[in-house]
This record gives sequence, structure tokens and C-alpha cells, in this order.
Amino acid sequence: MNVLTRAPARAGIPDEEWQIRCDLAALYRLLAHFRMTDLIYTHLSARIPGPEHHFLINRYGTFFHEMRASDLVKIDLDGKIVDPVERESRRVNAAGFVIHSAIYMARPDLLSVIHTHTAAGIGVSAQKEGLLPISQHALKFYDRLGYHNYEGIAFDRAERARLIRDLGPHKAMILRNHGLLVGGRSISDTFDQIYFLERACQAQVAALAGGQELVLPPKKVRRHTASQFSDESDSDLIELAWQASLRLIERDQPDYRS
Ligand SMILES: [Zn+2]
Repeated sequence: MNVLTRAPARAGIPDEEWQIRCDLAALYRLLAHFRMTDLIYTHLSARIPGPEHHFLINRYGTFFHEMRASDLVKIDLDGKIVDPVERESRRVNAAGFVIHSAIYMARPDLLSVIHTHTAAGIGVSAQKEGLLPISQHALKFYDRLGYHNYEGIAFDRAERARLIRDLGPHKAMILRNHGLLVGGRSISDTFDQIYFLERACQAQVAALAGGQELVLPPKKVRRHTASQFSDESDSDLIELAWQASLRLIERDQPDYRS
């Protein structure tokens, strides 16, 4: 729960679901703010707690910068829109469903998922060595990053088993020749993951563009830094950064809560 996104629940929507809708709509706005969008493509989602295994995903065709809590569509693990009225009037991204549902089915610890197609993310995804340990941002993912080979646009549900296998125990994965995929224990944790992974990719593209020999920290320092990021005390900072980020949109874009 956070104070800034608290809003009166809409008729027929439980308080808990409305809060998740507000936070997820805020997440879409923040990805737009930080220029991690690709027209109407790519998708962010959040799990709705409960035995039904429902989750919220964007209404296909809505820009990230205009996403509202009421634009989010509730679907089940078969990709079916739960609300029969919405089923007639709304679309969701089929490939988005395959990628996100794979993670929700296999990883009950992850409550939210982000998938992006940024230039830096795609660029690193096409580089054979993957994410290089050349920046503090990248070291957050040292030995904590999966890689999944490209199989075409993810319409095939059979790909879910391979996505799960390749993610392993991690929260972040590079989709080769495609983009980035992260999950989190909360919406704020998921935002933290994509922010750092995107910045790490941007730094790598910039460093390689310089054409100079790179300096890599020793393995002992890489492991030490990764463990510093994994420290539980990190969660306080993640929440602090989330609350600060919400203030970026709260003043000028309060309609995300509608
Ligand atoms: Zn994609």
C-alpha cells in the first residue's frame, strides 16, 4: 500500500484490486516518463492475489503515458478476459499473455512482470556476451540473470516451459534479439529491476560505442557488489525510490488513478 496511489474503489472492484490497478497504471506512466516504451507494444502486468490466478494487463492500443487504472484488463492464466462485457470490447496482447503467464504459473514469489523493447535492451540482447560486468548497475545482475533464445513472436504457449527454464531462480532475463523481462516481489520491486537493467544496458551500449578497451572489476568484487544489492535492507531503498518516482507523475497526471 502506498499513500499517493490510494483512491476510492470503483463500483464492483474490491479495494485490494483497485489499489493494484492504481499502482500498475502508475508503473505504465513511469515507464513512459523514463522512455522505456515501444508504441503500443510490450506490456506490464500484476498478479491479483487469490486462488483464481487472475492478473491485470494493459488494454491493447493504449499508450503507456495515458494508461489509467480502469484501462487495465483482468485475464486468467488461459489468456481469457474475465469480464464478459470487456471480452466484447477490449483486446489484450496475445504474446504478452504467453510471456507473463509463464512467469506467474511458475513463480508464486513474483507479483508483477515488466517486458520492454528499448533500443539499449534489444542492443545488448543481440550481443553474444550478454550483459557485461562493466558498471555498478550491471553488477546488480551478476550471476542473477537468465537468457532466453529467440523463437519468433511469443504466440506459442509451448514456449512458456522454456521461458521458465531459462529464467531459473532469477528475477530478470534477457530475451535474445528481442528485449528485457523482469519480475518482482511487488510493483515497486519490479520497477527497480527494470530501471537498473535498462540503465546497465544503456551504459554497456555507450561503453562499447566508445571503442576503447574496457576495465572489468575482479570476480570477487562483482560477487560482493551483487550480494550488496541482494541485501534485504535494499527493499527500504526500493520503496523510497518508488515513492519519489510517483511524485514525478502525481502532480501533472493524477488521472492515472481513474
Ligand atoms: Zn516483446
